[in-house]
Amino acid sequence: MPLAPTEIDEILTAEADHECAGYGEQKVCVRIAAIVDLPSRYGRFQVVGFWNNRDGRDHVAIVHGNPIGREHVPTRLHSECLTGDALGSLRCDCRDQLEVALQAIAAQECGIVLYLRQEGRGIGLLNKLRAYGLQDRGMDTVEANLALGFRDDEREYSVAAHMLHSLRVKSIQLMTNNPKKVEELVQHGVKVAGRIPHVIPPNEFNRFYLETKRDRSGHMLDALGKPHLPEQGELIQLGTQGADEGRRD
Ligand SMILES: [Zn+2]
Ligand SMILES: [Zn+2]
Repeated sequence: MPLAPTEIDEILTAEADHECAGYGEQKVCVRIAAIVDLPSRYGRFQVVGFWNNRDGRDHVAIVHGNPIGREHVPTRLHSECLTGDALGSLRCDCRDQLEVALQAIAAQECGIVLYLRQEGRGIGLLNKLRAYGLQDRGMDTVEANLALGFRDDEREYSVAAHMLHSLRVKSIQLMTNNPKKVEELVQHGVKVAGRIPHVIPPNEFNRFYLETKRDRSGHMLDALGKPHLPEQGELIQLGTQGADEGRRD
């Protein structure tokens, strides 16, 4: 069952006065500003809109069912990718990752996709396009980011941790192949009860990108080398698992 109107009113009233010391280096504090129904092609969701006190970026949580006070809530952290998510770019796997996550979560009793506004692994849209330009001339993702003066991955997850606390989730099962996400959330006080592998088969354009992610950024990918696209939902394992069960690396 989604959040009921009375519950939504209660949350919005409580959140209106929320203030805390903030999370992460930027001391970001977020407040839930709106909760609305979002029927989508992937299932029924509610979107929770967050105001934040720092940069005016409107992050959202896409919520299925009612995760409030729940343990082991399947959760995906998705960083915005305009070219992938909206334009259907095949240079990365972002849109597939988002779609598979939304489908998988819609099939559960409850779950959350946090849609974080940190485009291009945190370097912003224009810099991502500049990095693509360098890749068009032979660099890999990591080399291109470094050439532009950024780290390989500038994303950070303190806002995500605050959002999960705002949603009053007791513990999550994180859908990810990226150990850094788990570590950062734990550092910010989120109880990560397990990890659910999130594996999308590569296509001919993003294979090199995915291999770079695996070889240079420590991601736990294992579906590489498959030339075809099987049913995309089938590689996700959902259910209650310990932190190490379900690891397929
Ligand atoms: Zn706060
Ligand atoms: Zn992308």
